[in-house]
Order: sequence, then C-alpha cells, then structure tokens
Amino acid sequence: MKNCYWMWLILSLVTTATLAQNPLDPKLLRRADKLAHKFVIVDGHVDLPFRLKRRNFRLEREFLGIPLQTDDGDFDYQRAKRGGLSAPFMSIYIPATYQTEGGAKEFADSLINLVEGIAQAHPDKFALARTPAQVEANFKKGLISLPMGMENGAPIGNDLANVAYFAQRGIRYITLTHSQPNQICDSSYDNAPQQSPGHCLALFVPQVHARLRAQHVR
Ligand SMILES: [Zn+2]
Repeated sequence: MKNCYWMWLILSLVTTATLAQNPLDPKLLRRADKLAHKFVIVDGHVDLPFRLKRRNFRLEREFLGIPLQTDDGDFDYQRAKRGGLSAPFMSIYIPATYQTEGGAKEFADSLINLVEGIAQAHPDKFALARTPAQVEANFKKGLISLPMGMENGAPIGNDLANVAYFAQRGIRYITLTHSQPNQICDSSYDNAPQQSPGHCLALFVPQVHARLRAQHVR
C-alpha cells in the first residue's frame, strides 16, 4: 500500500516534468490520464465542508448540484472523477473566531455530519474512509473516498479527551492551530508571546491513531 503511494508519487513527478517539456503531446496526456486512474490519488486538504456550510448548506438544495457538478470552487464529483482524484481529505476547518466566541466543537461536529450526509446521500458515488484499506476498497468499487482531517485544533478546547472523540468520529489528522493561538498551540500568524502547551497534545494523539500536521504552527 505504502509502496503504491510512493510509486504513484514518483510516476506523477516524472509525468509532470515530462508534460512541462511537451505540454501538448497527446500520447503523454493519455499516459498521464491512464496513470491518474490506475493509482489512488489522495488530496490532503479540500475545503469543501466549510464552503458548503458558509453557503447555508441545506440537504435538499445542496444535493442537487454541489458537490456533484459545479463551476464554483475546486472540487466536485465530476471533476474529481475525470482527473482521477480518489481520496480527497475533507477539511473540517474551524475559523479562529470560534476560539473566542465558543462553539468550536459543535461547529466541527456539524461539518463532520455534513460530510457523512454527502456519503449517505450518494452511496453510488462517495463513501467515508477511516483507513487506507477502506480507501483501497472504495477505489476498487469506483467510489470517491471522503476521509476527514481537522484544520485548527480549537475543538479540542481544554479537554484532551476530545482527541479520542474526534478520532472516533473519523478525523485522521489535526493541524494544531490556524490564524490565532488556541489552547493547544501557538499560531505562526500571531506575534504574541508563546502561551499554549501544544506539546501536551502530541503525547495523546498517537494513542488514538490520528496524525498531527505542522501547519500554521509556531
Ligand atoms: Zn483549509
């Protein structure tokens, strides 16, 4: 499985470099397209859930067009299928305002529910995935996997038990912070003196098999 990803990465880099030299060579384009559909392609961060939420996501309305086909944003089913994207991580993005106004955990839950709703509404197109094996199984069935990662660890709040809680809900990585420091990490965007015991979280996360991403971290 791991070898498979590496092989894909190397092939895609070689193909991209070759395409840069010969951008219009139809033979190379066909080869690139074939490879893109032969291997699992993972995107580690797709900001679809927050975008849907911000647009007053409604089950009835949203399922008509988004995320099946739209000219808006960077992701929909048809474009993903055409390009061979098989496992886009849905970003459970929590704006820093929730750290001061409260409600970060509830907001995260609502975005996770939204992703689950997409998979439930379109079982012939999407499926949730918590492990690489599930991604592989979905890929073989022609389904796009919707794994989840959390962008901004604010929903952890003051209770590290929430790491296990969100791991159980399907979150597979947490970027500790975003544009402002929170209870678990300081932000690279902020110049205030260091204040968060972010190192504490690293002790807990391996036990629940989630991963940390050092993004926006100081
Ligand atoms: Zn994002």
